[in-house]
Amino acid sequence: EVALSVPDKKVESLCPYCGVGCQLTYNVKDNKILYVEGRDGPANHGRLCVKGRYGFDYAHHPQRLTVPLIRRADAPKSGDMAMDPTRVMEFFREASWEEALDLAGSKFAHIRDTYGKRMLAGFGSAKGSNEEAYLFQKLVRTGFGNNNVDHCTRLCHASSVVALLEGIGSGAVSNPVMDVTKAEVIVIIGANPTVNHPVAATWIKNAVANGSKLVVMDPRRSELARISHRFLQFKPDTDVAMLNAMMHVIVHENLVDKEFIESRTIGYEDLKKNVEGYSPELMAPICGIDAETLRYTARLYATSKASIILWGMGVSQHVHGTDNARCLIALALMTGQIGRDGTGLHPLRGQNNVQGASDAGLIPMMFPDYQHVTDPKVQAKFEKAWNVPADSLDKSPGLTVVEVMHAIKKGEVRGMYVMGENPAMSDPDANHARDALASLDILVVQDIFLTETAYLADVILPATAFPEKDGTFTNTDRLVQMGRKALDAPGQAKPDLWIIQQLGQRLGLDWQYTHVSQVFDEMRRTMNSIGGITWERLEREHAVTYPCTKEGDPGQPVVFTETFPRESGRAKFVPADIIPAAERPDLDYPMVLITGRQLEHWHTGSMTRRALVLDALEPDPVALVHPLDLAAMGGQPGDIITIESRRGKVGLYARADESSPRGAVFVPFCYYEAAINRLTNAALDPFAKIPEFKYCAIKVTLGGDA
Ligand code: SF4
Repeated sequence: EVALSVPDKKVESLCPYCGVGCQLTYNVKDNKILYVEGRDGPANHGRLCVKGRYGFDYAHHPQRLTVPLIRRADAPKSGDMAMDPTRVMEFFREASWEEALDLAGSKFAHIRDTYGKRMLAGFGSAKGSNEEAYLFQKLVRTGFGNNNVDHCTRLCHASSVVALLEGIGSGAVSNPVMDVTKAEVIVIIGANPTVNHPVAATWIKNAVANGSKLVVMDPRRSELARISHRFLQFKPDTDVAMLNAMMHVIVHENLVDKEFIESRTIGYEDLKKNVEGYSPELMAPICGIDAETLRYTARLYATSKASIILWGMGVSQHVHGTDNARCLIALALMTGQIGRDGTGLHPLRGQNNVQGASDAGLIPMMFPDYQHVTDPKVQAKFEKAWNVPADSLDKSPGLTVVEVMHAIKKGEVRGMYVMGENPAMSDPDANHARDALASLDILVVQDIFLTETAYLADVILPATAFPEKDGTFTNTDRLVQMGRKALDAPGQAKPDLWIIQQLGQRLGLDWQYTHVSQVFDEMRRTMNSIGGITWERLEREHAVTYPCTKEGDPGQPVVFTETFPRESGRAKFVPADIIPAAERPDLDYPMVLITGRQLEHWHTGSMTRRALVLDALEPDPVALVHPLDLAAMGGQPGDIITIESRRGKVGLYARADESSPRGAVFVPFCYYEAAINRLTNAALDPFAKIPEFKYCAIKVTLGGDA
């Protein structure tokens, strides 16, 4: 049928999945997407991965929310209820928009006015547009009256951002992914781009084919390791030991860039002193990489004409995630491998708009453009820009994602507004998070499907999917791109901006935005980094890189060429020492759980598991186990196994997988029927408050229920 159909319109837009930000064309007929084609965007040049090409039909899925829902007064609500979408009408009744918004607004206002402003919190979304993120945080800050606003950046790269802001003054990447094609040495650590950033992986493969040397560092053997020049399969949790050993070599063999250190950095002597105790011989047994390989890799990175480091959540999702990133930053600074083409630091951002949502202020300690909420000058600036009384904005940083759940349990947060996030699936120790969400006085969820979080809601507001609205999105390269409406929303589903504004009005905010471009224009006025990007230019050019501070600026794909955006213009070395994982294996729980994603599914699976082709490719919850570990427990591929931690247990199918080291099991977190985050540990990195998704102690047994 698709092959015979001719589209009646073509809409130039973006892929809604990962941070690579591929441009694509929706081919639409009768309000249905027939197929998708890649466009010649700066990040993809026509390429798309399986998610971008085949993951569009979730928008047409019969389970779309199409009418506001209100929880029935007699419906049960508890965190341990297994979700059953077929019973939705036993728990909820249909409502008009007026009734649902009035109920949500009046309950929020009651809590704010009766119990205090800090009793409310909001989670926005890294899947929404920049304008949605901006308006959402503005609602929390001016309507709720506090800074309790966060989103899933807290769960992915919060530690990278803290280390980058501290060390080089900017939380975004220094060079675009495409710079791998200009690099002599490419280091990929704690990332699996073939799975999580597939089109970026193709540029890496092209670079290797053209002579770049690829070094992959990871406890799991990723696909890219096959074409690597060196693969360092270090032991889980030993990043700092390995990276400090490399720095020890660079110092001792005098491979540092003295001129760069002297003219552009501070704190080198402290770093030098710190790495003195981390000789390769001492660190080899700790990290599992022999001393000679550590020496070779250090020399290779330090002496190449251009070395770039890309990293992912294998680096960031640890209690020492900030320290891991500090080491990567120090490596680049001490060797001068930053501020030029083909060099630099690139934390591969996960969701399609996690960079933009963070830039737009969807974080509890910063207003838009990373302006601190504690700075009186910044407060005054936003009070004026937002036309709210002087001295009315909250001066204290708000609660982060996991802290909000603890605060709910302590009775310190009583109402929540969740837009497009699914903490019942994505939070660590998800049973605890679900209990917390179920105990709220009011939970309002705005989404396109009945997610596991929406299942616990009091009010559900049906929103629009990615292809049903206009908006801007910022990819991992700091590229602000235009997403365009291709479809009309189903039923009574409404654009998120409309819903946020309606709720804002019920909280006393006099907002009258009539077009998304008005929100973007307001962002430009408060965010220097995008001040030069106009809506018209984006309409015309589709994408502009920030920083772009003045109209007509071309934008800067490579930054830090002359100075760093810190007080002195200099970057700062921050030494790091070994801190072990919060929960190590023991006799009762002898193995290690590593969580992450798989190619065909995205995040908590709410979209990709409703995309026909993607779900057909990976329909069942699987655990990747080393074949020898599987054999040792008497199992075979396809057998059901039960994985248990101190916080819960799940049953799923075992897949033999030699990429996982012995003693470690990898499980994707997208399967609601085997929600692996029921097992993960909510221990936090002390600087970034990111949970330790990449390490907790488990036991695995044969048998159980999948
Ligand atoms: Fe979409 Fe990312 Fe795949 Fe590109 S690489 S098509 S942005 S999921």
